[in-house]
Parts: sequence; structure tokens; C-alpha cells
Amino acid sequence: MNKICNFCGNKNFTEKNVNYIYKRDDKYLMVNNVPCEECNFCGEQYFKAEVLKKIESDYNDIYLSGKKVVKEIIVPVEEFANL
Ligand SMILES: [Zn+2]
Repeated sequence: MNKICNFCGNKNFTEKNVNYIYKRDDKYLMVNNVPCEECNFCGEQYFKAEVLKKIESDYNDIYLSGKKVVKEIIVPVEEFANL
């Protein structure tokens, strides 16, 4: 693949599977083992458009159509000023 990191100009990337957190309208979807290419220099992660489209459509299936998910987690929320 011939590309350059938008942030640092580096040309070397590593293919990885990462956890991706998608957020829309204050609702979240976490997807495990999402393929991406990570910049070897600054660590910026690049996802293919088709990968992001899949996640977006899964988000719709879950929140609009009531699709059952593999697992749900509880996430603690804090205000930084109260720490
Ligand atoms: Zn970079």
C-alpha cells in the first residue's frame, strides 16, 4: 500500500486488529478485533471505509432494530472536576 500518514508523513504502517469505539448521539458501540493500519511513527490508526460502514450499520441494527449483541459492559462515568 502506497500512502502517507496525514499527521506525521511517515510511510510505514502495521496491520493490526484493535478495539474500536463508535459513538453517535451519546450512544456507544465497542467492536473487538477491527482491522486497521497503524502508523509506525505516531500510532495514528487508519480504517477502511468499508470497515467503518459495517460498524455504522451494526450500530443501526443494535439501536434501531434491537439486534442482540455478544456482550454488554457497564462503563463508570466521572466529572474530572470531582476527582
Ligand atoms: Zn503518523
